[in-house]
Amino acid sequence: MSGFFSQKYKELVPYVPGEQPQGRSYIKLNTNESPFPPSPRAVAAAAEAAKKLQLYSDPEMRLLKKKLSEVYGVPENAIFVCNGSDEVLNFAFMAFCDQGAVFPDVTYGFYEVFAQLNGVKYRKIPLKSDFTVDPADYTGTNETAFLANPNAPTGVFLPVKEIEKILSSNERRLVVVDEAYIDFGGESCLPLIKKYCNLLVTRTFSKSRSMAGARLGYAFASPALIADLETVKYSTNPYNVNAMTAAAGIGALEDGDYTEKNCLTIASNRAFAAEELEKLSFTVLPSRANFLFARHATVGGEELYLRLKEKGILVRHFGAERIKDFLRITVGSKEEMRALTEALKEILK
Ligand code: PMP
Repeated sequence: MSGFFSQKYKELVPYVPGEQPQGRSYIKLNTNESPFPPSPRAVAAAAEAAKKLQLYSDPEMRLLKKKLSEVYGVPENAIFVCNGSDEVLNFAFMAFCDQGAVFPDVTYGFYEVFAQLNGVKYRKIPLKSDFTVDPADYTGTNETAFLANPNAPTGVFLPVKEIEKILSSNERRLVVVDEAYIDFGGESCLPLIKKYCNLLVTRTFSKSRSMAGARLGYAFASPALIADLETVKYSTNPYNVNAMTAAAGIGALEDGDYTEKNCLTIASNRAFAAEELEKLSFTVLPSRANFLFARHATVGGEELYLRLKEKGILVRHFGAERIKDFLRITVGSKEEMRALTEALKEILK
């Protein structure tokens, strides 16, 4: 740490992203990326937009918002566009957490980092023993609630009617529902934004639309909440989304069939992989996401992670006590899932 670093960040523990290896080529099942390339329409649109990089991107993101509005049936003033959904989550911690924040003990690690970064007081609420959320834990609270749905790293889905209980219990308290993985089989809270002014739904192009490297996120909420997010955006970086990414986003939205087909393939590969893992004595949590969270009956998570890495397969392991025996495994192609189960068979022999 340099002598110049602000005192307020002294204790900050940054988020640790999954490895992005540059040398040896791995079967990469550690960061929940898509095994499929982006839509050719997204690639072509980005290449076209590259010809005009001398210009700033449109800070209002009019064309992309128009397309999102058509696809999701939401007015443009209820849509926010950002540099990956991480950005809107950070903005939500900056903008909406005067009463503090609450989130599950096992959830997306960035929530805690954003809380620390922004000096937000937070509490972690333990998930139930089956890793589900008990809505009652969130109904008597005033803090802004952050719920990933499906949750990460568990993949477990909380039904919309349960989320509605939390929303309706205290309409002066904001609930942020992080739907990064919603396209892989969950039911979205999006229809509820008309009914609840205390709901912010965040989404991403990183997973189902195969655009993690482009950094494109978006959010849906009442126009008043969106206006607040715009205030924060225009006070930090009005050009947060670059022109190539915005164009690629429109291209991807125009190719909805491609996304839908890929999501169905992932759901089928997920079922296949879960079944194979169960045959190998893993307990696999029910996942509606593009990853599985699984624990072996006898061999620990760290050992399996290291042994798989030796064999050229990267999965994600977290050291936190409650989940240290689990592996989070991205659902890839059928071949990748076969390679994973073959490698595990050898390791467990
Ligand atoms: N929410 C959750 C639950 C995630 O797992 C991720 C991906 N790491 C994100 C949000 C952020 O995704 P992105 O910034 O790529 O949109």
